Amino acid sequence: MAERAIPIADLRYAAATPRIPEQLTPPSGLLSDRLGRPLHDLRISVTDRCNFRCSYCMPKEIFTNDYGFLPQSSLLSFEEITRLARIFVAHGVHKLRLTGGEPLLRKNLEKLIEMLSGLRTPDGQPLDLTLTTNATLLARKAQALKDAGLKRVTVSLDALDDAVFRRMNDVDFPVADVLAGIEEARRVGLGPIKVNMVVKRGTNDQEIVPMARWFREHYDGQVILRFIEFMDVGASNGWRMDDVLPSAEVRRRIDAAFPLEPLEPNATGETAERWRYRDGAGEIGLISSVTQAFCGDCNRARLSTEGRLYLCLFASQGQDLRALLRGGATDEQIAGAVGLIWQERDDRYSELRGAMKADEGSGRRRVEMHYIGG
Ligand code: SAM
Repeated sequence: MAERAIPIADLRYAAATPRIPEQLTPPSGLLSDRLGRPLHDLRISVTDRCNFRCSYCMPKEIFTNDYGFLPQSSLLSFEEITRLARIFVAHGVHKLRLTGGEPLLRKNLEKLIEMLSGLRTPDGQPLDLTLTTNATLLARKAQALKDAGLKRVTVSLDALDDAVFRRMNDVDFPVADVLAGIEEARRVGLGPIKVNMVVKRGTNDQEIVPMARWFREHYDGQVILRFIEFMDVGASNGWRMDDVLPSAEVRRRIDAAFPLEPLEPNATGETAERWRYRDGAGEIGLISSVTQAFCGDCNRARLSTEGRLYLCLFASQGQDLRALLRGGATDEQIAGAVGLIWQERDDRYSELRGAMKADEGSGRRRVEMHYIGG
């Protein structure tokens, strides 16, 4: 059975074999792509499996029990991930985010975190090492993750109303357990904690103000709530523009309840526009991936569960770094290949989406979010 699954999973998306340059020069830490964007963040998907079946990401009808998830032998091992991460750090990456699927489902993840937390930038700085999770296992694992060297977590939570949340995760998982995970993460010092809420018009937009109220009132401004526009990632989630509630509308609703004022960005390439409550009760973030494309300063690369490098969340093809790892390439050769790939990058899907006709965008074969990581 497992043997039959291997080719299905491996052939699901097209992959190119990276080119190794003839002249190998050591990474300078100053890579820049065709649009002048540096390489700063690496998101690493550690599993393509998830215990939620959110309809906007892994709808139950498609991601059934016998869906062809990747077999264990296809996944990058912790040693392979760490080896690649070291190469990316030499090229200028300062931030690593573990994602999935649900990353806490990957067995012994603390071990990987321990290995990654030992990495240093070329000028000797530790990395910003973080993880995105649905928090189902967070209350149990927060302490071990912290002890292993994880700096902070981002938790996904789409509603406070238990019935709405259970409907959205589609596995009947209760809100209370996610809140317990957030509480434990805070207790062990995995902060500042960010909470991401994907807003889908007509599904959970009535939860915007209650979510804002809850996170203002319960965490002394230590938890930053961020609202994400429902995106047209992958091809399984039945995306329609009508389901997108623009961030401007999210801001208007919150501002009417709790007046807001804009904040300066923390860093270049930051996905969220920052706003703070005028009464000093903390800040929120708005991620307008659909209505206000932010490709112009996108400095993120994504490594899929089985080692393909993607240069855009909306990419249709990855570069097979695992083939280099398992084919005996040296670190210098892999670094050379990664450098070339980044230098040739010109992806800016979200900016182009605006100019596409509706059917052009949805017809492209794009990787799924659970596979590439959010
Ligand atoms: N399982 C982890 C989690 O729940 O955070 C990590 C992976 S999940 C794919 C990462 C993030 O992507 C989550 O916050 C999820 O809500 C978000 N996401 C998935 N599909 C999305 C979509 N179509 N539009 C916007 N955000 C989406």
